[in-house]
Amino acid sequence: MGNAFILGNSPTSPVRLEYGKQYIDQDDINAVIRVLQSPFLTCGPEVEALEKKLCELTGAKYAVVIANGTAALHAACIAAEIGPGDEVITTPITFAASANCVLYCSGTPVFADIDADNWSISPASIEARITKNTKAVIAVDYTGQAARLDTIREICRRNHLIFIEDAAHSLGTVYDGVPVGAYADLTTFSFHPVKTVTGGEGGAILTNNEAYYKKMLLFRSHGITRDPALWQHTSNEVLYQEQVLLGYNYRITDFQSALISSQLNKLPRFARRRKEIVSRYDKAFSQLAQVKIQKKLPLSDSVRHLYVLRFCLSELTATRAEIRKALLAENISCNLHYIPVYYHPYYTHLGYEKGICPVAEALYEEILTLPLHVCLSDEDVQNVIDAVFKVVSYYAKPV
Ligand SMILES: *Cc1c(COP(=O)(O)O)cnc(C)c1O
Repeated sequence: MGNAFILGNSPTSPVRLEYGKQYIDQDDINAVIRVLQSPFLTCGPEVEALEKKLCELTGAKYAVVIANGTAALHAACIAAEIGPGDEVITTPITFAASANCVLYCSGTPVFADIDADNWSISPASIEARITKNTKAVIAVDYTGQAARLDTIREICRRNHLIFIEDAAHSLGTVYDGVPVGAYADLTTFSFHPVKTVTGGEGGAILTNNEAYYKKMLLFRSHGITRDPALWQHTSNEVLYQEQVLLGYNYRITDFQSALISSQLNKLPRFARRRKEIVSRYDKAFSQLAQVKIQKKLPLSDSVRHLYVLRFCLSELTATRAEIRKALLAENISCNLHYIPVYYHPYYTHLGYEKGICPVAEALYEEILTLPLHVCLSDEDVQNVIDAVFKVVSYYAKPV
């Protein structure tokens, strides 16, 4: 293995491999151009076509496509009527938006810890955090593996809580035979470029609840409607419309919707390739005593968005920063998902303190996100594996 990987020798991968990257082909480009040449750039037929497609894909009754995944979470919290005094339980090992959406509604995010081996929000910890003020749970399908949805749904049912699933990572994942999108009361997706399918920006909320659906449609566009059935006053005026709730402009464009639809046509291929890469990584890294892979939940048939590897620092002579630097010297660019949400100064100022989720905090200290996207060739995947072996072997403590 040698010790010359940072200096001297050429890096394991001849080209820099990023942790995530979109895949756009000619079909995608054509789909966007077609819309740009059509009468509707927004509020047109592509939005509804995408909503229909998402329902078909997941089996959910209703879909609302929206500006981005964060707006989707905001809309889900509005549908769930989160307000002042309401507590919503979520995980700290997620993107801040999973908790910020509760703050947007003046509710209080409450952080539950994660399971030590599969890194998903812990159902036991959720139960321990429930109070008389708890109104909802936002479970996150961390890395694309579904959270323990059956157990969480049962906890929500027993405690009369609304079950929101942040599925920004898990488009295409199937849990216990049910596609993500049809399992929770409200499921949100993101179509940011690092996610499995992209529209540049974009998001969606799926639900089987018609009242939630109708409210989110209004919320997406200022709370203003031309539908007389939704008006609170009667009017015979021409071009009459009413604002019936406080909404936002969270609309998505038709060309983004067309891009997402075109990308969804490739989802089976994307899913297959992501599964192949994850299974090669898992197989290889299981052989290394100094790292831990994310333990699989048997009920989740996962399309993974991220590949997170845990470096057992007590078995290594390097810090995480040194491991990251050494991997970068091998042309493997890592990322970190995530800093616990309540470590952010904004949350510190709200009164959250370190120590509330010890399992999550310990995980955070030791993880790095390795490249996982469909543009990786078999050779790239092998290079990532070789680089990790090289770096870990070099820094391994003598046994
Ligand atoms: C990406 C992401 C979001 C936010 O989605 P945007 O489309 O970027 O607004 C929310 N939650 C999680 C877990 C995410 O990874």
